Amino acid sequence: AVRRFAVEAGLRRALDHDELALVYQPVWSIAEERFVGAEALIRWEDPERGTVSPAEFVRIAEESGLIVPIGRWVLEEACRSLARWSELGHELAACTMSVNISAVQLRSASFTSTLTEVIRTKGIDPSLLCLEITESVLMGEVAYYSEALSRVQSFGVRLSIDDFGTGYSSLAYLRRFPADELKIDQSFVADLGSDSYDDPLVAAMIAIGDSLGLRVVAEGVERVEQLAILRDLGCRYAQGYLFARPCRFDECVEYLSALLH
Ligand code: C2E
Ligand code: MG
Ligand code: MG
Repeated sequence: AVRRFAVEAGLRRALDHDELALVYQPVWSIAEERFVGAEALIRWEDPERGTVSPAEFVRIAEESGLIVPIGRWVLEEACRSLARWSELGHELAACTMSVNISAVQLRSASFTSTLTEVIRTKGIDPSLLCLEITESVLMGEVAYYSEALSRVQSFGVRLSIDDFGTGYSSLAYLRRFPADELKIDQSFVADLGSDSYDDPLVAAMIAIGDSLGLRVVAEGVERVEQLAILRDLGCRYAQGYLFARPCRFDECVEYLSALLH
């Protein structure tokens, strides 16, 4: 309770004192062998503790409702970056920006108006913005969110199912959830090539994505052997330390403009 209280108070201060930051992890196109976009990931630059990762504070932010103003800041900052790189040149103009959205944000009454306002004020092309929603959120509650999600899509914004494969094995929500992308959770990618069920499971997930016409992205790719298997299985996009770690805006721009490979 003491820790929660401290984190909550710290987060309020972080919002007011500009201590939140985004890092960007580039997304690799396996077929084209180049970066085609990036995912924005939040960090908290605590003056006392240094860089704090989202695993340590997103949950508390959700439970306290602070995720709503924090999520708004993330969306604004990510769209500002998207607008900046879109202006930098022809290659960058088609690169996408993915933003993680919490269920608590989706439930808040202001979510869709915030989204339209950010798109308008930052002047971005909505089809270059992709909102990532964790699969576990969608399980069972998809009817509850489907109106908000359909509205998001009616603006031209894309939707991605994050951590695919980690929910409770019901595929029923895929019938109603209007997704554009599916991200295979890194836990399935980790053991690719070892004597496990992960190869056939990943093959099956890629087949599901392909047959539904979704863009499939493998997360957490760290080794060349994993990439080779993913390529053989027909996976077209990947993210992971093998290609690029989450990095600052300027470094991400270098990746996206193909300066580093
Ligand atoms: P996620 O959206 O599934 O993001 C992928 C996580 O895997 C990131 O951790 C990323 O740094 C890490 N990662 C990338 N490549 C590799 C790899 O090759 N190996 C390994 N082991 N890890 C890799 P991070 O940045 O700590 O974020 C953790 C989670 O926190 C995210 O999972 C997402 O669910 C949440 N999150 C991050 N930023 C935000 C945000 O702005 N808003 C909300 N609501 N949640 C966020
Ligand atoms: Mg994500
Ligand atoms: Mg994920």
